[in-house]
Amino acid sequence: MRITDYEPIVGRSSIEELRLLGSKLSGKIIQNINSTSVGGGVAEILNRMIPLLQDLGVDARWNVIKGNPDFFQVTKKFHNALHGRKEAISEQDLAVYMETNRGNLKEMDLYGDILFIHDPQPAALVEQKTQMGKKWIWRCHIDVSRPDEVVWQFLKQFIVRYDAAVFSAPAFSGPLPIRQFLISPSIDPLSDKNRELPRDIIDATMRNFGIPQDKPIITQVSRFDYMKDPVGVIRAFELVRKHIDATLVLVGGGAADDPEGEKVLAEVKERAGGNRDIYIISGQARTDIEINALQRASTIIVQKSLKEGFALTVSEALWKAKPVVASAVGGIPLQVKHKITGLLSHDVEGTAYALRQLLSNPEFARSLGENGKEHVRQNFLLTRHIRDYLLLFIALDHNEDMINL
Ligand code: UDP
Repeated sequence: MRITDYEPIVGRSSIEELRLLGSKLSGKIIQNINSTSVGGGVAEILNRMIPLLQDLGVDARWNVIKGNPDFFQVTKKFHNALHGRKEAISEQDLAVYMETNRGNLKEMDLYGDILFIHDPQPAALVEQKTQMGKKWIWRCHIDVSRPDEVVWQFLKQFIVRYDAAVFSAPAFSGPLPIRQFLISPSIDPLSDKNRELPRDIIDATMRNFGIPQDKPIITQVSRFDYMKDPVGVIRAFELVRKHIDATLVLVGGGAADDPEGEKVLAEVKERAGGNRDIYIISGQARTDIEINALQRASTIIVQKSLKEGFALTVSEALWKAKPVVASAVGGIPLQVKHKITGLLSHDVEGTAYALRQLLSNPEFARSLGENGKEHVRQNFLLTRHIRDYLLLFIALDHNEDMINL
C-alpha cells in the first residue's frame, strides 16, 4: 500500500497533513521494538504502518526481541496479572524476564533517535537509556488500570524511566510520574478484513458456511472466551426470537489451541442446543476475507463483552456501516455513542431490547450504521493513528509541550 491509496477514503488534506508532519522528522530514526513479528494486534498494526511511515519519508524501522519459551511463559503471566488476574510470579520468573531483556541489550543494535517500545515484554530495554540517552516511549496496548501489584511494581521501575507512555483508552492507565498520551488503535480500511467486498464474494462465503440470508442476521465475531459472553448473546437472541424471526451467527475460529476456548465453545454449543437458527463457526482460524464477508452479510453486529480491550471488532463493524449493539466496557464507549453510532447495553435483557429496537426500526438502524462509519473514518483509521504517532514523535523530539495531542 502507498499512502496515496488512502486519499479517496480520508481526503487529500489528511494525507497532505501527514506528509507535512512526516517532513518534520526528517533525519530522525524511529525504532520500534516488540516481541513478535507475526500474530497479535501489535504486529498487525506495525506490519501495515511501517511501510506507510516510510512512504511519508519517515525513517521508521522495526526490530523484534528474542526470547525462549520460558520467557514467553513469564510474559504471558505478566499479561494476565496486569489484567488483574491472580498469577503466582516467582523470583525465578522475574530473573528470566531480566536475563532475556539484558541478553537482548547485548545483541541488539539500538540506533533510533526515538525508541518506541511496545508492551511489557521489552520494557526493561530502557535500562540502556542512562548510557545512550535518546527519547524513549512505552506503548502499552493493554489495560493496566487494575494490575496485580507485584508485577506492576516490578514493571513500573522501568516505565518511569521512559519519556512518555501511550495508552489506548483513558480508562486503561493509572497514575504515573511521566507524561501519558491517549492514542487509540486503528483498523486499516484497505486490509482484507475491512476493504469493500463484491456481493458475490459475500454470498459465496455465506453459502459456504451454510447460513441462509433470508432472515435478519445477528452476528458476534469473537474468540470463544468467557469475557466475550457468547452464552449471554444466545440468551439475548432467544429473548428476541420470541418476537422476531432472525438468525444468530457466532464466529470464533481458531479456538482449538486454547484449552479455555474449547470449554467455552462446548458450553456455547450446549446452550445453543438444537436451535436451528443459531450458527456456530469455530474450529480452524478463518481468513480475513471470510470475517469481512460475515460482518458485511450481517444485519446487526453484537459485542456483548463483560470486559474488553479496545474492541477492534466494533471498529470493524462500524466501518462496514453496521448497526452495533455492544456492552459499555473497555474501549467500546469511545466507539459506540449511545443512540448516535450504535446502542450500548448493560445486560442480557438490555441487549435483547436493543436488538429488537433495531430489527423493528431499520431506518434508525441504518442511520446508526452510517454515523458509526463516519465516526470510525474520523477517529479509528490507520491514517489517524499515524497522525497521532507523528505528533507524539515531534512533540518528544522537540522536547516541549508545544503540541498537545
Ligand atoms: N477475529 C478473527 N477471527 C475470529 C475472531 C476474531 O479474525 O474468529 C479478529 C477480529 O476480527 C478482530 C480481532 O480478532 O480483528 C479481535 O480483536 P478485539 O480487539 O475485538 O478482541 P481481542 O480478541 O483482542 O480481545
